[in-house]
Amino acid sequence: MAPNSLRPRLLTGDRPTGRLHLGHYVGSLANRVKLQHQYESFFIIADLHTLTTRPEPRHIKDIPLYVREIVLDYLAVGIDPQVSTIFIQSAIQETYQLNLLFEMLVSVTRLKRLPTLKDMARDAHLNAMPFGLLGYPVLQAVDILLPRANVVPVGKDNQAHVELAREMAHRFNNLYGETFPEPQALIGNVPTLVGIDGHQKMSKSLGNAIYLSDDKETVETKIKGMYTDPKRLRATDPGTVEGNPVFEYHDAFNPNLAEVDELKNRYQAGKVGDVEVKSKLTRAVNQLLEPFRERRAYYRAHPRLAQDILSEGIRRMQKEAHETMEIVKSATGLSYSTEMFVDEIDLFGEYGG
Ligand code: ATP
Ligand code: MG
Repeated sequence: MAPNSLRPRLLTGDRPTGRLHLGHYVGSLANRVKLQHQYESFFIIADLHTLTTRPEPRHIKDIPLYVREIVLDYLAVGIDPQVSTIFIQSAIQETYQLNLLFEMLVSVTRLKRLPTLKDMARDAHLNAMPFGLLGYPVLQAVDILLPRANVVPVGKDNQAHVELAREMAHRFNNLYGETFPEPQALIGNVPTLVGIDGHQKMSKSLGNAIYLSDDKETVETKIKGMYTDPKRLRATDPGTVEGNPVFEYHDAFNPNLAEVDELKNRYQAGKVGDVEVKSKLTRAVNQLLEPFRERRAYYRAHPRLAQDILSEGIRRMQKEAHETMEIVKSATGLSYSTEMFVDEIDLFGEYGG
């Protein structure tokens, strides 16, 4: 399909802070793969966003490694580079420009109301809130609106940020005329996947993730050690299914619904052991991941391909961002250039006699 067709647009992405995991898959990636032919799709690897909590050079040094892993994750799950654009945030100069303009469209009080920012500061062990972290969702609004995206497939934790981007687009349009679409969040099948620890959401930085790139044995070991009903001591004790992460995963990843139903019934009746429940889950997860592993291996063996996909994506996004900034400049009237002083603008003449 031609990249310049008039399909509605989609943007979403990830910070290069680690490899992608099952939570990313059910929260956002599955929707991306499904919608990429229907929407003109842009996938951002948001390296500038990592600076909000980790600006130190030793962390910046790790970014290229994670960019590589995330590009491979994207291609592995089936993002199709023939129709979709994959790019790196910091390669787009207009991001910095639009960010400054967008900072004027939101109040500090509004930003401080977002619980996500406090959580991020806490998780990163920051004792003060950096100005840039407060601006995290502002930068995210820039990412979404630079390609003028209509929909944003994200997990539940990001819904409030997309809502803010919507408000900012609305405010911009009110001030300067109809320029941006008002984007909408699209939440995945499982809005928040719990981690294998059963306590917090699965997250790259919490050590509770099953990665899309984990091999069979690693998946097996992780599922064996998964948190389950702590009150159940023997296979003959009736167990709780509700809120039990092992069954949440069965619901999310096991396509054999009859098997899941039957396991739940036996579990509640104290007629099945954890070993069987977990080994059936392992089989289901490995079945999902197997084709991802194959595609990943293919791209690993052809590094030039992934490299070209990324540089082509950057070029394509640079073009879009340039167009958007031209529209923004003309809408706001902030469009001076030296050439204009020579040819068009007579700024001081008006004073003259
Ligand atoms: P970090 O620990 O660095 O914050 P993360 O694992 O939380 O990493 P993000 O890069 O913050 O991942 O999130 C990328 C996208 O994946 C977002 O749309 C987010 O909502 C979604 N997502 C992340 N974790 C989950 C999860 N456990 N369940 C559902 N969606 C998720
Ligand atoms: Mg996160």
